[in-house]
Amino acid sequence: MGTSSRPRPGNSFRLALSYSVTPTGTAVRKNIHPAWQTVAGSILLIGSDDKRDATPKRYREVSVAGKPRALGRQIGEEAREEVRGFCEVAIERVNQTVRISRQRATQIAQQSLVFAEDYRPDLVDELRGTAEAAGVDLNDLMLLQVRNQLTSEPDAGCTSLSVRTVAGSTLVAQTWDADPELDRFTIVLTRRPEGRSATMTCTQAGLISYMGFSETGIGACVNSLPAPSRPIGVPHYFTLRELYEATSLKQAVHAVERAHRAIPANIMLATPDGPADLEVTIDAVHVLRPDGQAWLGHTNHCVHTELCNINEQFPELIQSHARKRRLEQLITSGVCDIEHVKRILCDHQDYPRSICRHPNDDSGHGFWCTVFALVIEPTERRMHVSRGTPCCHEFEVYQMSSS
Ligand SMILES: [Zn+2]
Repeated sequence: MGTSSRPRPGNSFRLALSYSVTPTGTAVRKNIHPAWQTVAGSILLIGSDDKRDATPKRYREVSVAGKPRALGRQIGEEAREEVRGFCEVAIERVNQTVRISRQRATQIAQQSLVFAEDYRPDLVDELRGTAEAAGVDLNDLMLLQVRNQLTSEPDAGCTSLSVRTVAGSTLVAQTWDADPELDRFTIVLTRRPEGRSATMTCTQAGLISYMGFSETGIGACVNSLPAPSRPIGVPHYFTLRELYEATSLKQAVHAVERAHRAIPANIMLATPDGPADLEVTIDAVHVLRPDGQAWLGHTNHCVHTELCNINEQFPELIQSHARKRRLEQLITSGVCDIEHVKRILCDHQDYPRSICRHPNDDSGHGFWCTVFALVIEPTERRMHVSRGTPCCHEFEVYQMSSS
């Protein structure tokens, strides 16, 4: 077994080694595939335990354009199977971690629709178009938008970071640690709404927005942030969609602030003003900026001084504090460029509860793993996405075309 080959699907080996980092760190690393290394301290060789090895390497790309209803219809036509499939299993998957009846879930969806319509009626019109074309009920499609209002974990786990690179641009990146069943509903979707900025997102089909970037130079990643919530309000994905239309950090913050929000969330940003992080609660939006450094890192607990007491009220979500410490150690261990960021997302310290997360025996969320990882370059209008754990799956490039 040479170091030039990769862990092969179906292997079950696991081998932990230690190594010394040279002063530059490069002499050791350059002969070892990124899938087999951490950035500092130890090497962990992991055979793939990912059941999705037979799936394609890339997510399907869908591109739509036009007025809201027509744009929505195109999504419903192009991604009909994914939208229908996601609607069919949404409640079942939510019930993996919390029990809620379909009747109650539908009630929350219907009541939140009122808030969504007030916030952005054009986006509700887009959902109507998608529902019509996919042949699903609008309430069922709306239920997808509010599914993270039904659980105690607002979204997925996740580790995110935003860095200003040595080249001067800002990257935003994350692992998306969640239910692997959602992989099959995931697409890379480019929207070109008439009169508004184009976006490219890596998203489950049927959601009004998710992680990605806009042509205005905003890139966004998201993490769960355990904090007080309420069942009804503007869905998180709606605020993300408006955030992508911002041309500055100030506008991005306003897009979230002006919504009557139901859930807390963390939104890691690359903006024209550099890295920023929004710790969003239902009461306020707290902005974190780099303090004497060129980066920000976040996991699944509050960092802002005004919110730290909230952490004591909620159980720690998938080893959030340990991952944050490791993330910061990794960020500062190398030159901040895109390859360094990719290596960080592959890190296996504390495997399987690592930044690159694998299934484990955790009673609540052991089935969660890194479903995909992404590195977003908003100014280049592209993102790099590994479909599956980034240790064992290549990052593929998705480029937004100029028109
Ligand atoms: Zn891994």
